[in-house]
Amino acid sequence: MIQQFENTYDVTVIGGGPAGLAAAVSAWEVGAKTLLVEREEKLGGILKQCIHDGFGLLMFKQKLTGPEYAQYYIEMLKNTDVNITCSTFVTDINRQDDGIFHLILVTHHGIKHIYTKAIVLATGCRERSAKQIFIHGTRPAGILTAGTAQYYVNILGQMPVKKCVILGSGDIGLIMARRLTLEGAEVEGVYEAKKELGGLLRNYSQCLMDFNIPLHTQTTVTRVFGEKRVSAVEVCSVDENMSRINGSERIIECDSLILSVGLIPENELAEKMNITLDAETKGPAADQCYQTKKDGIFVCGNAFHVNDLVDYVSSGARIAGKCAAKYKKRERRLIPVIHDEKFAYCVPQLIDIDSDQKKADIYFRTKQKEEDKHVTVTSGDNILIAKKYIEMRPSELEHIQIDIDKIEYGNDKIHVKMGKVE
Ligand SMILES: Cc1cc2nc3c(=O)[nH]c(=O)nc-3n(C[C@H](O)[C@H](O)[C@H](O)COP(=O)(O)OP(=O)(O)OC[C@H]3O[C@@H](n4cnc5c(N)ncnc54)[C@H](O)[C@@H]3O)c2cc1C
Repeated sequence: MIQQFENTYDVTVIGGGPAGLAAAVSAWEVGAKTLLVEREEKLGGILKQCIHDGFGLLMFKQKLTGPEYAQYYIEMLKNTDVNITCSTFVTDINRQDDGIFHLILVTHHGIKHIYTKAIVLATGCRERSAKQIFIHGTRPAGILTAGTAQYYVNILGQMPVKKCVILGSGDIGLIMARRLTLEGAEVEGVYEAKKELGGLLRNYSQCLMDFNIPLHTQTTVTRVFGEKRVSAVEVCSVDENMSRINGSERIIECDSLILSVGLIPENELAEKMNITLDAETKGPAADQCYQTKKDGIFVCGNAFHVNDLVDYVSSGARIAGKCAAKYKKRERRLIPVIHDEKFAYCVPQLIDIDSDQKKADIYFRTKQKEEDKHVTVTSGDNILIAKKYIEMRPSELEHIQIDIDKIEYGNDKIHVKMGKVE
């Protein structure tokens, strides 16, 4: 899908996955002249290869496959005059003295220059690779990330494995355990170094339990064997500090090691723009309008923080697109959102007290499984909201909504706390 495009815009959305699609539609809805840039040939982002169902339960109250979910937004875009350019890569962004952003685009027709008042970064995330985790041994063919295995099977129609071990119990790993089994491969087991499952419980039940694939927690892969192709891996039990337990080593013969060991926001462009990245989310810090600390640059979807449900991605991206369309340079009074130790992270990290966006959804993950806890958001002595959670798990993103008008001016932070239900 390539259209002719001009060179000046109100909003340029970078990335045509579910975040970029929703942001572009909502920017256009509030009257912005909008450009959507996607580096791949087709829109849809990671959803193109997610042919399993389970998308859109919150947004459309339906169980859709990834391509079906993406198609909903692609159809919406067809009724707009958003300019779309696929097979186009944004390689650089600079801000001119007049505040307008200058983007360099690499296209099939050569280098293009675009000028835009606001930018929405919707560039998704990357999978952690074998180089980012420490495994001894050789580096033969047959070590691949779960997303790459999914691309081989679902897009290219090729089977990359016959018998594999999966390291990491993230959702993509669980989904690929089922997918590879259905396609005739043997999945020896899923190995997880942590005590807890990394993915959603529903994926554990539907992808592993239903197919009798064992999950081994507190166990990791410590060595790879093989010259040209993987021939075996060594697995080993680990204690709570992730230290190996000597004597627990076991060799498993297999031709592949599939990695599902985490996702990291794709933040090359943000880094180029010197945007502060949050050490916890690894994405840019942003306020409730999804505006980063750099005026005029917004971020949404997995580029902001890694989401487990696409529905959350779309709803946040709609706010990002609308706010980018309304963007005007002004002083922002930003209040930091801080959290207790028990949370892995909370987003947004900032609240813009003067913004028109008077409600803020605070999304958070806990560090470990928590039961019967209250989550309270306070501003000074003022309780903005308190909610009881029967169970919270690190793999499941939770959210709670605060009313910005309830925040007292003069309080220098918003605090997200966790306490026992009395
Ligand atoms: C295997 C898997 C299974 C999942 N299963 C479910 C599920 O069952 N239910 C559910 O609700 N959610 C599921 N999710 C989560 C959901 O799919 C993601 O949260 C969502 O797709 C993230 O959307 P995004 O737009 O932020 O990123 P992406 O979908 O990754 O889109 C980012 C886009 O940006 C483009 N891009 C990046 N850099 C540039 C650049 N410099 N220039 C131009 N374009 C660029 C990329 O090509 C890509 O198309 C799953 C995710 C995965 C990976």
